[in-house]
Amino acid sequence: MAIPKAPAGDVGYNTAVESVRDEEYPMMKGSIYLDHAGTTPYSKSLMDRFAQDMTSNLFGNPHSFSASSQLSTSRIEDVRLRVLQFFNADPDDFDVVFVANATAGIKLVADAMRSLPDGFDYAYHQMSHTSLVGIREEARNSVCLDDGQVEDWLAGTGPFSAGDTAGRTTLFAYPGQSNMDGQRFPLRWAGQLRRNCGSGANRTYTLLDAAALVCSSPLDLSCVDTAPDFTALSFYKIFGFPDLGALLVRRGAEGVFASRRYFGGGTVDMVVCLKEQWHAPKTQFLHECLEDGTLPIHSIIALDAAMDIHGKLFGSMLNVAAHTSFLSKRLFTGLGALRHGNGEPVCTLYSLDPSSSTNGPVIAFNIRNSLGAWASLAEFEKLATLKGFHIRTGGVCNPGGIASALGLEPWEVKQNFTSGFRCGSENDIMAGKPTGVIRASLGAMSTISDVDSFVDFVGEFYRDESVPSGRPELAPQDENSQLCVRGIFVYPIKSCGGFEVPKDVDWEVKLEGLAWDREWCLVHQGSGQALSQKRHPQMALIRPSLDFERGRLRITYAGHIPRQLPREITVPLSMNPTVFQPLVSLHSRSSRVCGEEILAQTYAAPEVTEFFTGVLGVPCVLARFPPGGQGKSMRHSKAHLQKHQVPQPSIRPRVPGSFPVPPSPPDSDSERVERRILLSNESPILAISLASLNELNKEIEKIGGSQVSPAAFRANVVIGCPPSARGLPGTQHTPYAEDSWSRLCIGDVGLEFTMLGSCRRCHMVCINQETAEKSEEPFVTLSKTRRFDGKVFFGTHMCYAPSAHAAVTKEAQFPTIRVGDVAAPSW
Ligand SMILES: *Cc1c(COP(=O)(O)O)cnc(C)c1O
Repeated sequence: MAIPKAPAGDVGYNTAVESVRDEEYPMMKGSIYLDHAGTTPYSKSLMDRFAQDMTSNLFGNPHSFSASSQLSTSRIEDVRLRVLQFFNADPDDFDVVFVANATAGIKLVADAMRSLPDGFDYAYHQMSHTSLVGIREEARNSVCLDDGQVEDWLAGTGPFSAGDTAGRTTLFAYPGQSNMDGQRFPLRWAGQLRRNCGSGANRTYTLLDAAALVCSSPLDLSCVDTAPDFTALSFYKIFGFPDLGALLVRRGAEGVFASRRYFGGGTVDMVVCLKEQWHAPKTQFLHECLEDGTLPIHSIIALDAAMDIHGKLFGSMLNVAAHTSFLSKRLFTGLGALRHGNGEPVCTLYSLDPSSSTNGPVIAFNIRNSLGAWASLAEFEKLATLKGFHIRTGGVCNPGGIASALGLEPWEVKQNFTSGFRCGSENDIMAGKPTGVIRASLGAMSTISDVDSFVDFVGEFYRDESVPSGRPELAPQDENSQLCVRGIFVYPIKSCGGFEVPKDVDWEVKLEGLAWDREWCLVHQGSGQALSQKRHPQMALIRPSLDFERGRLRITYAGHIPRQLPREITVPLSMNPTVFQPLVSLHSRSSRVCGEEILAQTYAAPEVTEFFTGVLGVPCVLARFPPGGQGKSMRHSKAHLQKHQVPQPSIRPRVPGSFPVPPSPPDSDSERVERRILLSNESPILAISLASLNELNKEIEKIGGSQVSPAAFRANVVIGCPPSARGLPGTQHTPYAEDSWSRLCIGDVGLEFTMLGSCRRCHMVCINQETAEKSEEPFVTLSKTRRFDGKVFFGTHMCYAPSAHAAVTKEAQFPTIRVGDVAAPSW
């Protein structure tokens, strides 16, 4: 939680708070003043009151008849009543069960529902706290709903298909206020659901998670017909102390707990053990049956003191609500108004505008620099802590809320998990997206100056006055010779069909190559060798495509599919599916790729193996070789400059000033930089030039052959003149110019690629990638025109070379290229 502040939230209330001028407090006039000693009158008064109670009374364990025990019993009953009164709940209609915290209350409900004879079905709102989400593991069926789906349900369209749920009890759980961004949800839902959706055996119960809501808002349960059946909350969030929670149960819903199996000390009237097994639960009050073991007596008594002192200082929860709402508007406006020198906003706000919505006093946001790069959450939290602000960052225990705020698909969350991201980890920007939020919450004791100094702090540390220069200087380009990216292709499964990156999509570039290129391969079941089109041309007909919506790699076969096999199979994109789906067992097995021993993860699922084995007629399994492996789960590039790429001094005399000296080829291993690759043969990225291809096709036509398509070369990046410039005089680029490029800058931001040398070819280029048929060309013509030193070359290897000193831009955090990007070579 946020800003030095009072009871409520993730931090205690003992934080240094500045003194506040009375006139700043329209709501709280005269009711609050703060000192500089780091304690507030609230905490001091509360502790004094509690100490007085403790030192002047003796409180015994309630289960006996001693005076001390009786005193505890009667005080606890008084506090129980007081809790009901705090929420305007009639003791005839509600009971209070004391629990350790809101989560313990939620778990009591889950335990009881699970024990119902037919179990239960569970629907929970997408903004639910983790503690609500966890209930799904106890349910027969569970669904996660957004607002619209809840309203549909209220209007009669239930979230479960009829067959699934015949006659089963349903539990619907939702937060009164999201702990992620403060959004509040309609309290009417509980009553409407009870009225509209099921009675009798397949009744629907509602669990309201009020833990965040009640920190800064009154909760009125005076109308028993509209009240939730179960309401869970934590008192420490309202009062700062004691560490105690409650479950409020509508008496009409008490029946659910009758099936609870466990009984603890204090919850039974009689127990028979030894020869018979029988027990009689207590019958008078529900709380007697659910409060297992000794109550936290002193905490309950401290709650009495907390309610006293809170009431004295703040008046009512309505006052707290008005005060915090006033402050949250100020915070929202203040953060929203921060601009970088170039006019870009500093903060990306996820919370709704509190002045036009019922958002609670919580602002969730992230910070970007003037070039759009995200600030690290871990770094922000450290800085804020140094400056005395108590904020929370990260996933804040709200998985659904975070995913929807940040636009993270399930596969991305899993991808981040398998890439090593964990709750609380420092590595909080992954693939150019934040993995969590910064959450600033306001409580009863937050002040205007807290808000203002927090906004100043964000401005002081995160506002860029001048724009750092993010892009390297591009060499001036001759308009006519301009090149661009004409196509981008990845080959998810080594040696199988390509996936063409759609025109308007930014594709991630990694050090190992383009994202998703050659992460999978097919491995022979016997020899462990990776299969190649060279021996199995029909692999070209295996067509993988990347479905990010569903988080799957979908695979079809464009040739004849044996009858018993499906048209399509899919495997998860998530890097290590065993983590998520124990049934998809992967085992690591030693395989060979291009003669090199590697360790890949193979898919054990029979339908996957049957599909590939069936279509190819070769006993093989699918294997995965994700980025980031170590040892034999890692490979390095073998590409290097070839002799033909190095101008011979005799041919090109080095006249000083005539033209730049080209880079010399690395001739010893020590000079070679280790560059990681996945399952590609030699290098991270392969590029071809359309000008060179045209030249090659001209040669082929001369001898009566037919043109080859760019697809034959299985390049990742196809470079050519922009489509508009084609055919115009002077716009045709020089064929094979790429042989002498040393770098290529792609896109407006100038992502830099280092050229690693020409690509040596074999007759795999003769396989028509559409039909899997083999012909002579282009290999025959290539070997006549592009043979150097006894080897045949076409296309060029390259790798992404991030520049270490450029400013952090969003492109540097998440480097991408797209079709149409300008491609500027240098020599
Ligand atoms: C804090 C919170 C919880 C969990 O409360 P505990 O006291 O940790 O059990 C659950 N839901 C919401 C909305 C919360 O804010």
